[in-house]
Amino acid sequence: MGCGDAMAGIAQKKRRIMGRSADYSGERCAIAAAIDIVGEPWTLLIVRNAFLGHSRFEQWQKSLGVARNVLAARLKRLVALGLMQAVVYSERPLRHEYVLTEKGRSLKGVLVALYGWGRQHVYDDNDGPFFELVHDDCKGIFITQPKCEACGEMIDEHSVLKAREDGRGMTLSELYVRKGIGVD
Ligand SMILES: [Zn+2]
Repeated sequence: MGCGDAMAGIAQKKRRIMGRSADYSGERCAIAAAIDIVGEPWTLLIVRNAFLGHSRFEQWQKSLGVARNVLAARLKRLVALGLMQAVVYSERPLRHEYVLTEKGRSLKGVLVALYGWGRQHVYDDNDGPFFELVHDDCKGIFITQPKCEACGEMIDEHSVLKAREDGRGMTLSELYVRKGIGVD
């Protein structure tokens, strides 16, 4: 199935389940087009964890705690849209692992932008997030721009998302409680 077919399928599905997902069909905007693809719940976190090295269903399921049917649907869609490739790693039983394609890997810039915004405007206290965007060369951190806070270099292939070495990091619900932000 080509990308166009997958898109048509998504459009049909949206018509069938009114209200379940946003209808951006009236938009004439590349941002809306991107959000329409990666804006479903869990999709970008699945991609984030692929950058952390996850490639198997159980890894995502355990780390994200996402419902299995939802995870299966998201992975299927990521493959249909050409952001991931399903690769057989076991014939009996038949098992696939999922790896980002070049198109999927190019979402790194999107994740970096979201990381920077969240770090600047949501996680703005010392407890910070658990995952940090680290410049592998100097161990500096990318915060507000795709530029290392320590050495000033722009983000590149050596820049990786890593768990904090001290193991600290607030969950969003902890952060919302701390900040008095309602989650309803
Ligand atoms: Zn650096």
